[in-house]
Amino acid sequence: MQYLIPYCSSYFAGNEQKYVLDVLQSGLVSGDRKYTKLVQEYFKNQFSIPDILLTTSGSTALDMTAILLNLKAGDEVIMPSYTFVSTANAVLMRGARPVFVEIDETLNIDISKIEEKITKKTKAIYPVHYAGCSCDMDNLLVLARKYRLFVVEDAAQAVNAKYKDRYLGTLGDLGAYSFHETKNFVCGEGGALAVNNHEYLERAEIIREKGTNRSKFFKGFVDKYTWCDMGGSYLPSDLLSAVLLAQLEQKDIITEKRKVICERYRNNLTELEKKGFLSMMKIPEYNTPNYHIFYILLQDGAQRDALLAHLKSEKIGAIFHYIPLHTSKMGAKLGYKREDFPLSVNLSERIIRLPLFAGLAAEQADYICEKIITFFRR
Ligand SMILES: *Cc1c(COP(=O)(O)O)cnc(C)c1O
Repeated sequence: MQYLIPYCSSYFAGNEQKYVLDVLQSGLVSGDRKYTKLVQEYFKNQFSIPDILLTTSGSTALDMTAILLNLKAGDEVIMPSYTFVSTANAVLMRGARPVFVEIDETLNIDISKIEEKITKKTKAIYPVHYAGCSCDMDNLLVLARKYRLFVVEDAAQAVNAKYKDRYLGTLGDLGAYSFHETKNFVCGEGGALAVNNHEYLERAEIIREKGTNRSKFFKGFVDKYTWCDMGGSYLPSDLLSAVLLAQLEQKDIITEKRKVICERYRNNLTELEKKGFLSMMKIPEYNTPNYHIFYILLQDGAQRDALLAHLKSEKIGAIFHYIPLHTSKMGAKLGYKREDFPLSVNLSERIIRLPLFAGLAAEQADYICEKIITFFRR
């Protein structure tokens, strides 16, 4: 269907074409070339990340974390049920078991419910910063230290968002980012692995290069490269890194535009919230948001579905989000039952994400809100 206002739309208003052309003209289109390096430097400097490796997606960055932690059959990894499949797949593909935990009203993992899930088999916690909203990291890290667990942040949605004064993705041992079309900064398909503990860097470079030390070879440290470890093809083309650099150069513009839309939604919907028709996404005081998602929660699933249908009939691309993983076919295979995490189910039935992208005009946001207000007037 053709939307009047889609849910998201990429915003290529900077040097994207110029940089892609530069790569094409150079003839050097594989990975680890000029733009891959420029983007990695940019990340290190802008977000105070000790080391970072661009990857082919957020999902492959997560896959790499599971290899780096040597996850294996018999290991357990704690994560919310309310997340994207890739968080769980990364762990599952190593033979380890995802152990789900309930979320709280921020839609992030409920820290107070982690400890009861920790066993002798637990190896790591994978917190997900949903919507760019930070998990309560101080308390999570205390738990991780107490039980000597690794922490891997699924910061796929959280590029440029902070917990207190630190950027998300830099607080755990490792962090994963995504530059998929739906995220704030886009290169089509792409991701990055934040390596916050230097010990992982050498092996991470090898895993990213099909298990070879080719990256060392390119730097001139070895005179031929060889097979050293398991690995995959996780290095993106410089064509994609070129797009990404242009996006990052517009970081502040893109963020400001998204912020304006979110504030518009907030102002326009305050009246409905006061009347109890809906509630808006809350931002904890420790979080500096990146305005990745703006969501509202309706009173129940039936009302949510009715409003979604109404917006769809107006050709507005509002959408729901995750079906909690424990309720999926795979969740059932892992032994979970729908009743296991009632709040995850409840919130996932009540959520609507409103259109949000840098190219969305404030007037369009007003228009969407008018349609929501009309719905409740009926
Ligand atoms: C987008 C996303 C991913 C996967 O990123 P891709 O780049 O699409 O592979 C993983 N986890 C979360 C929470 C995401 O939102």
